[in-house]
Amino acid sequence: MKTYNHYINGAWIEPASGKYFDTENPYTGEVWAKIARGTSEDADKAVKAAKAAFESSDWADMRPTQRGKLLVRLAEIIERESQRLGELEVQDNGKLIAEMGGQTKYLAEWYRYYGGLADKVEGAVLPSDKPGIFNFTRYEPMGVIGMITAWNSPLLLLAWKLAPALAAGNTAVIKPSEFTSASSLEFMELIKEAGFPDGVVNCITGMGLEVGQPMVEHPDLAKVAFTGSDFAGQKIYETAAKKIMPVTLELGGKSPNIVFEDADFEAAVMGVISGIFAATGQTCIAGSRLLVQRSVHDKFVKRLIEVAGGAKIGNPMSMDTHVGPVTTQPQYEKILHYIKVAKEDGAVCVLGGKPYTGEGARGNRFVEPTIFTGVSNDMRIAQEEVFGPILSVIPFDTEEEAIEIGNDIVFGLAAGVWTSDIGRALRMSEKLKAGTIWINTYRAVSFMSPFGGYKRSGQGRESGQESIKEFLQVKSVWIAQETTAANPFIMR
Ligand code: NAD
Repeated sequence: MKTYNHYINGAWIEPASGKYFDTENPYTGEVWAKIARGTSEDADKAVKAAKAAFESSDWADMRPTQRGKLLVRLAEIIERESQRLGELEVQDNGKLIAEMGGQTKYLAEWYRYYGGLADKVEGAVLPSDKPGIFNFTRYEPMGVIGMITAWNSPLLLLAWKLAPALAAGNTAVIKPSEFTSASSLEFMELIKEAGFPDGVVNCITGMGLEVGQPMVEHPDLAKVAFTGSDFAGQKIYETAAKKIMPVTLELGGKSPNIVFEDADFEAAVMGVISGIFAATGQTCIAGSRLLVQRSVHDKFVKRLIEVAGGAKIGNPMSMDTHVGPVTTQPQYEKILHYIKVAKEDGAVCVLGGKPYTGEGARGNRFVEPTIFTGVSNDMRIAQEEVFGPILSVIPFDTEEEAIEIGNDIVFGLAAGVWTSDIGRALRMSEKLKAGTIWINTYRAVSFMSPFGGYKRSGQGRESGQESIKEFLQVKSVWIAQETTAANPFIMR
């Protein structure tokens, strides 16, 4: 069995506690590796190594163009290793190889994109209203960035943080989810091969409260970039507030996928299915609330049942599997709990609604794709994030009503709209309160496009040109062109 230690200052370091925990394959239920169980001592070691690297001339004096070249080299290594990384993700988090193979290859683009951006961050010479004083701005890295990720797409969520943070000249301490630490740890070998100086990227593992929290509390940490639940996000925000430390928070969602009667029917069906049953519904952007215009409700639900009911459930390593296992045991129990809650609250289960034990199932982690009709937007199944293959169907009559229901939620991560009316598409994209709006498509993300949440879905943006600024601070520099002994008791 494989044993993984922490990666600190370019070396594999045993945990101070001497303790390890198991990581398992969600499909087979087999424990396949031991992972270091970190504590505050390990967090301290890693943050100090990252701080020393941030201040060392090897990194601090490196020109942005050279940092960019390292990132581009890393992108090439990722492409070479993408199949292996994809298989590793599947082994640890149970997502489909059909998706992860492409995803691990695609994540190279984040490193290439921010590699290109590294030497294009420009300050400005500002027009001045102060005679004889010259004023310019410069963007500077912040220092050590703590990066905490969720279990559903470990390497992708890491790329969204690590690529811009390194391009900006910061150093990093990564704390992946305790359920899926292996891929981030293996990734450290790629970082080393690309030629980043030791200490620039570190990875520590363990439980959120045991090693994540002490890392966030560490006085030498400059910022936290977090992806996870709104519960943990709030806790991290509170801890950061005590130090006045900035945060990026990518949190949960309960996104509406809104189908109008004028939509391309079959495209909308496939889009709704992809929004909730792909990745077994374990995505922050899951379109878990289907808002469907009443005139097409029955026909639409009938077709959804046909397609989702025919989904092939089973081995995530098979290219023809559609729905894989739930990644973690607590998540599996949470999904079953919400099915019970929905039934108790009066929603009607028209598909699934129970564990799947049929052909292709192994272990004990499969849930049937589940559809509830008769849902009203105030039910718990419509308001709370499940993070599983559970779709709530809510009928509406008018565009105004769709907007009202779509926005009647504490979250605001994404929304989908299916319509053939361009005017309606534009109105909906303006009125829906979410960080991403998809019109006649769903689940499209790119390194080029900003991603993040409105409302309780988060703080800050990842991807796109703006996101490099999340890892920079701006400094304003004033230079007097002539030195004069001015009156010291009045403002210049
Ligand atoms: P989680 O909040 O339980 O854990 C996320 C990470 O935070 C883990 O690494 C965990 O160890 C760590 N953690 C927990 N408490 C901590 C604390 N007090 N201090 C420091 N670290 C702590 O989330 P999860 O179950 O791993 O992931 C599922 C959640 O992630 C869902 O809510 C989903 O919507 C969200 N998510 C959001 C996005 C996005 O981009 N918005 C993407 C993927 C997942």
